[in-house]
Amino acid sequence: MTPVHLMEDKMLKQRLRSQPAELVVYTGPMWSGKTGALNAQLELALISGKRAGFRVLLFMPKKDTRETRPGKEFSGETVRIAHVTEVFDHICEDHLVIGFDEIQFFEEEWEEFKNVSKKLVRSGRHVHIAGLDLDFKENSFRIVSETMALAQQIYKKEAVCDRCGSFHASRSQRISSETDRFVVGDSTEYEARCIDCFEPPIDDVDSGETTSNEIPSAT
Ligand SMILES: [Zn+2]
Repeated sequence: MTPVHLMEDKMLKQRLRSQPAELVVYTGPMWSGKTGALNAQLELALISGKRAGFRVLLFMPKKDTRETRPGKEFSGETVRIAHVTEVFDHICEDHLVIGFDEIQFFEEEWEEFKNVSKKLVRSGRHVHIAGLDLDFKENSFRIVSETMALAQQIYKKEAVCDRCGSFHASRSQRISSETDRFVVGDSTEYEARCIDCFEPPIDDVDSGETTSNEIPSAT
C-alpha cells in the first residue's frame, strides 16, 4: 500500500473525502470532558482538512454564555447560533466535518435537530456532537437521547466525583437553590457526582419517584 505521504495530492484528497459519513456523540455529566473530546476530534479533522481541502465547522449555542476557556477552545471556524434551523445558513460545500457542542441548550428544538443531523449525514458529512445526557433530576435531554439513537458511535464519559473522588461520576448535582431546568452552570451551580453520592432533588423524593424506600440497598 502506498504510504499517505507519497500519494498523489488528488488521490489523497479523494481518499480523505470519501470516508463514510458518520454521526458520533460525546455525552456524560458536567466536567466529564465532553467538549475536550469533541474538540480533540475536530482538531484532528482540521489537520486532515488542510491536506485534503475540506473545512471543519463548530456550532455552539448562543444561550451558553459561559466565558471561553483559553487553550481549551476549538481553533477552527466556530459559529454561535440561537436556533438549529440557522445551521444551513452557515454550511458550505467544503464543510465536510461539522461539530455541535452543548446541544442540550437546543432541547426545545430536538425534532428539528434530529432532521438537521440526518440531513448532514445523508449529505456525506461527518457530524460530531457533545451534550449532557441527564439534567440535575436525572431526566434525559431528549435532543441527546434521540441523537444517540441515530449515532454510529457513542462515547459516554465519566467525571471525578466531587464528593468522594471516584472517577465514575455520571450525574450532575445541582448545588444551588435554582430550580429551572436550564441554568448555565459553573462550579458554583453543579458538582459531578457518582451514583452513590448523587442526591436526588427533594421534590423527586417527595413525589415517590425514587425507589429507595421500596427496594433494599445492595450490600
Ligand atoms: Zn461519589
